[in-house]
Amino acid sequence: MLKSISKKERNRGGERMVDCIFCKIIKGEIESQRIYEDDKVVAFKDIDPQAPTHLLIIPKVHYSNLLDIPEDELNILVHIHSVAIKLAKDLGLADKGFRIVNNCGKEGGQSVDHIHYHLLGGRQLTWPPG
Ligand code: 5GP
Ligand code: ZN
Repeated sequence: MLKSISKKERNRGGERMVDCIFCKIIKGEIESQRIYEDDKVVAFKDIDPQAPTHLLIIPKVHYSNLLDIPEDELNILVHIHSVAIKLAKDLGLADKGFRIVNNCGKEGGQSVDHIHYHLLGGRQLTWPPG
């Protein structure tokens, strides 16, 4: 019963994350091409790349999306950005440019309910996206 457990419990092992494909990737239950990992985040190649470099950076804690992060845990977003910057530099994207994207909710185009940031680069990207 989703209603009977608190938001924090759901985020940390409750029912919502049981079938989460990104939680399974973190646990190694689904294969991925992992590029980076630390105690807080994992970065891996997107299965359907939209650019020569297309990585997903995800927190190890399950949050459905931006709206699901408690205010006192928002520093995870700074960490994700710092990892994105490091990876962009390491992968040679810094000179030409790159894009970091978060899709939030249905109309935002979010298809996986575990917050993730896309890191895209290696070609000329257009704006606005579709
Ligand atoms: P969203 O549309 O939610 O912003 O992005 C979800 C992304 O996850 C998509 O770009 C999609 O290709 C990627 N994705 C979905 N399932 C898998 C998977 O099992 N493995 C990997 N590596 N990427 C996935
Ligand atoms: Zn998850």
